[in-house]
Parts: sequence; structure tokens; C-alpha cells
Amino acid sequence: MKITMIGSGYVGLVSGACFSDFGHDVVCVDKDASKIEALQAGRMPIYEPGLDQLVATNVAAGRLTFTTDLAAAVAGADAIFIAVGTPSRRGDGHADLTYVFEATKEIAAAVTGPTVVVTKSTVPVGTGDRVEEILREERPDIDIAVVSNPEFLREGAAIGDFKRPDRIVIGSEDARAREVMREVYRPLYLNESPILFVSRRTSELIKYAANAFLATKITFINEIADLCEAVGANVQDVSRGIGLDNRIGAKFLHAGPGYGGSCFPKDTLALLKTAEDHESPVHIVEAVVKVNDSRKRAMGRKVLHALGDEPRGKTVAVLGLTFKPNTDDMRDAPSLAVVQSLQDAGVTVRAFDPEGMDAAKAMMPDVVFCKDAYEAAAGADAVTIVTEWDTFRALDLRRLASVMTAPVMVDLRNVYRPDDVRKLGFAYSSVGR
Ligand code: NAD
Repeated sequence: MKITMIGSGYVGLVSGACFSDFGHDVVCVDKDASKIEALQAGRMPIYEPGLDQLVATNVAAGRLTFTTDLAAAVAGADAIFIAVGTPSRRGDGHADLTYVFEATKEIAAAVTGPTVVVTKSTVPVGTGDRVEEILREERPDIDIAVVSNPEFLREGAAIGDFKRPDRIVIGSEDARAREVMREVYRPLYLNESPILFVSRRTSELIKYAANAFLATKITFINEIADLCEAVGANVQDVSRGIGLDNRIGAKFLHAGPGYGGSCFPKDTLALLKTAEDHESPVHIVEAVVKVNDSRKRAMGRKVLHALGDEPRGKTVAVLGLTFKPNTDDMRDAPSLAVVQSLQDAGVTVRAFDPEGMDAAKAMMPDVVFCKDAYEAAAGADAVTIVTEWDTFRALDLRRLASVMTAPVMVDLRNVYRPDDVRKLGFAYSSVGR
């Protein structure tokens, strides 16, 4: 099949590369010329494990190409995916659909024959209807079906998630479009990955409901972690104790500094807006958003607390900046709030992240960026682990202590066992233990 992917970011590039690996002919389009130039030169514009190899293999096989020329890429395509960003709209938290509708209009201007337009971007309920209206108005001459096919991949494990998904959701009631989508996902269909055919509005809502539920699970265990600290219990044991119950499940029960990233914060807000517009409030998600927002700065206060009575003038080493390990994505990372609250209290921040520092430099003024954890810790009054990269799980703690002004560690990801660290002379605090 001939597939066009509009938007070559974290989702578009991974999806496009995986579709080409399934054997389809894929053209990835982006309006950011620097991204396309990098891809054409064999360089990845994002960090995602295994992506460079997957792209190289499929480019070499002649199945994957990159262009800024949307019109040429769209002509003759069997399926045109929209995978552009849907950030929070400034001011009100609604999903900003500018990029989706712009892409739709560009598609309308360029289609040459019957095709299927597939929204992979996360979009509020009813967006598919609007996309269809635009296409109908602009191209009444051509039969274009509009499908919702939300993406559930996780950054850092994106390729595995795309190729072995828990499920594929297809929102369309059009028989021809369903057939095209079955063909697009044929290799997974044969692997017996569950494919759910639902209505387009249902499909759009499934994506938001999934993210809101996961955000709720994280927020729930974070509040239980606070309660553990208050009553002298251990949140990791609580997580295990409840997670072994199949009805609950063990995933997303790790207490930490609150959820961040490019999806949960904006998608929970957008769901609240949809609910508000339809006068059908989702109070649980309202609470989740509120609790998570206050948690990020509370984690900053936790670090300040570890510095003693007068934090002003002290130095903290922040280890890990991205919202989770194995990505370079800094969007809405909890580290942003933690660093800001430290700086607001007059603390100097030194930081290291294995992949996120290029993006972080533009977002975190006045941070001293370092080449590794030990350089960051040099002369620091405390070190805090904000993102649980593997490299921070195996620190040489003696060496770390030897370069610090005082051996103080605030482990916001519960990476270490308290006894092990305290034995080495650290004043150690973590989350919910
Ligand atoms: P991204 O910002 O990394 O990529 C979007 C790309 O689209 C950018 O490179 C941008 O230049 C390009 N673009 C915008 N308008 C365009 C146009 N008219 N023509 C060509 N290119 C255009 O965003 P992302 O993280 O890949 O997210 C894309 C969508 O997928 C969002 O709706 C997001 O919510 C959803 N999603 C993201 C993830 C994730 O982990 N990042 C997971 C599931 C779903």
C-alpha cells in the first residue's frame, strides 16, 4: 500500500518507519525542513531507541522516503495519516487543532483520487466530523473516508509498542475504510493483535479515556505515597500489594514527582474541556489535574527541605530532566517545576541528562549543564534524581559523596534502597518510604 504520513515527529516518524517495515511504501512529510533534511541525511531528529536502525533499513530497501512536499506525497496515496501536534491551546486548555485543520486543507488541495484520511493525532471527540466536513466542502468531487486511529505508543519503547500493541483502535463505520485499515495493519492482524472497530467518536474518546485513566493511576499512588510518609508505611510494598491483584494491575503504580510529558498533561486538560462543553463533568480527572499540578512544586519543596533551614545560596545537582528515561522529550517534564522552585528559593542548579540537555537548555535558563552525574554533583549540597535513567541506578555513590559538599540525596524515583545509601553516610529521602 502507499501510505503518506503527515507530521514526522515522535508519533509520525515511528509510525511511518514501522509501516514501511511491514512492507508498505511510506512517505513521511514534515513542514519543518530541518527535520526532513536530517532524515534525508540519515540523522534522527529525535532520540528513540532503535529508530535509526529501523529507518536506515527501510530507506535502504526503498520503502521509506522523506519530503516537505505534501502535495506530491499525497497524490495517489491509499491512506493519508495525520500525525501532527495537538498541544494545549494557550489560555483555555482545549486541544489546539490548528495543525490538524491546516493539514486537512493541504490534503484537500492535493488529493487525486479516492482515499482514506486517518487521524492519528490525539484529537477531541468530533474532530473527525470536522475533518470530514472540510474535505467534503473543498473536494466534493472525490470520495474521501475519514477514520480515527489513535496511537498508544510510549516514547522510549515506541517501536516495540507499535509493532506489538495491546490493541489497535479503528474508528470508522465505512466498510471500504475499514478494509483499507485492515490492510494497513495486516501484519499485526496476522499476529492476532486485537483490532477494535468502533465508531469514530468512540475511538476519539478511547484515547482520552485511556490517558486520563493512566494519569489517575499515577496520581492515586502519589497521594498514597504521601499518606505512607505520614503513617510510616512503604509505598513500594503497597504498590506490590495492590498491583498483584489482577483487577488493579502492577503498571503505573510507581510513586514519583507527578506525571509529565507531551501527552498526559495536555490530554487530561482537553478531556476536561470536552466534558465541560458537553455539561458532563469528569470530577475524578479534575482532581487528578489539580493534585498533579501541585505535586510537581511540592517535590521542589521536598528537595529544599533536605537542604536545611537556609537553602538560599546552596547548590543542587539535578539528575535527569526528561519526563521519563529513554527519550529526549522535555515537554511538560516535572523537572521544569522542580528546577524552577529551587531557583525561586535562590538555589543554584547543576544538571545532567543523557539525552534531554539540548532541549532543556532552551527551557531552563541559569542552569549549569554538566557532562555527567559526577560533574553535576561537584560542590553540590544535595543531589536529586528526577528521571530514572539506568545510568542513575548504578551510580558510584562513594565517588558521588566524595565530590559533594554534603552527601544529601533526594531520590524522587525511589531508585535506591534507603539502607544501602544511608550506610554510605548519605542523608537520604525518597517518595512514600
Ligand atoms: P511532534 O511535535 O513531535 O510532531 C509533530 C510534527 O508535525 C512536527 O514535526 C511538525 O513540524 C509537523 N507538522 C505540523 N503541521 C504540519 C503540516 N501541516 N504538514 C507537515 N508537517 C506538519 O508531536 P508528536 O509527539 O509526534 O505528537 C503528534 C500527535 O500524536 C499528538 O496529537 C499527540 O498527542 C499524539 N500522540 C503522541 C504520543 C507521544 O508519545 N509523543 C503518543 C501518542 C499520541
